[in-house]
Amino acid sequence: MKKLFGVIGDPIAHSMSPLMHNDLFQHYKIDADYLPFHIKEAQLTDAIKGLKALGAGGFNITIPHKIAVMPLLDKIDPLAEAIGAVNTVVNQDGLLIGYNTDGIGYVRGLTEKIPDLSDRSVLMIGAGGAARALFFSLAKVGVKKLDIYNRTIAKAHDLISECPYAVDSNAIGKEQAEASLADYDVIIQTTSIGMAPHLDELPLSLENLRENAFVSDIIYNPLETKLLKEAKKRQARVQNGLDMFVFQGALAFELWTGIFPDPKRMKHTVERQLGGKQC
Ligand code: NAP
Repeated sequence: MKKLFGVIGDPIAHSMSPLMHNDLFQHYKIDADYLPFHIKEAQLTDAIKGLKALGAGGFNITIPHKIAVMPLLDKIDPLAEAIGAVNTVVNQDGLLIGYNTDGIGYVRGLTEKIPDLSDRSVLMIGAGGAARALFFSLAKVGVKKLDIYNRTIAKAHDLISECPYAVDSNAIGKEQAEASLADYDVIIQTTSIGMAPHLDELPLSLENLRENAFVSDIIYNPLETKLLKEAKKRQARVQNGLDMFVFQGALAFELWTGIFPDPKRMKHTVERQLGGKQC
């Protein structure tokens, strides 16, 4: 019998997940469908109960439900619990188990480009939900230093103090981040600056960027943000958010099927749809 999978969010029409996962189900000859579900906040409880009753194999959760879904599940994986957000649910014999593959997916994508992170100093820009998943996952794998610059500095302080994994980290202001940019090997941009309507904005000046720095922006639409364009001009290596999107999806697919799918295939599927080539 065909298995049901899907993604729950509001809005959801823009999601690339159905395209990516349906291609994988076809490719690996798994009899399953992955559907987008447009679910408003007030419908979330019923939607989760409904998917459970229908025997869905699993589903993804996206904005704005990643936190609200947690009390509706039967069990939460420890990393997702620490992060405080779930993006993947597995139906294990009738029990719904919540995971967070965003942060580990990001780290998998990053280590494709920088295999050893342990001696790297990292500056993370932003302290929202995505930043939290990335910060905890990077702290877990271990980096030399992991500072945060966020517009609202109190949120950066909170994030650092709530991280269950030990890491050398400071919350810094914009002036300090810009002045000391050359101290960092890797800059990770996690805010919505660079996406519409902020296409022409930079979260900070790259004037002091090191020539051999690595600049990673988790936005993938557009594939090249203004920050990445500026970084390229300064001879930095760059990465857009497609790797994170692909690897969080690959880890979810593995949780559902036991198969770790081909990330290159997944990337091509999304790139074709977005009409561009990855940085
Ligand atoms: P979020 O929880 O709402 O956090 C937003 C972050 O952006 C906060 O740090 C916020 O700073 C900052 N910000 C927003 N507007 C700003 C502005 N005008 N100036 C300066 N800072 C601003 O959102 P999120 O879920 O973390 O998502 C953030 C980005 O990550 C989005 O662009 C999203 O598309 C992307 N994302 C990508 C993937 C992927 O798979 N590649 C996955 C998830 C998210 P304050 O704390 O000061 O408000």
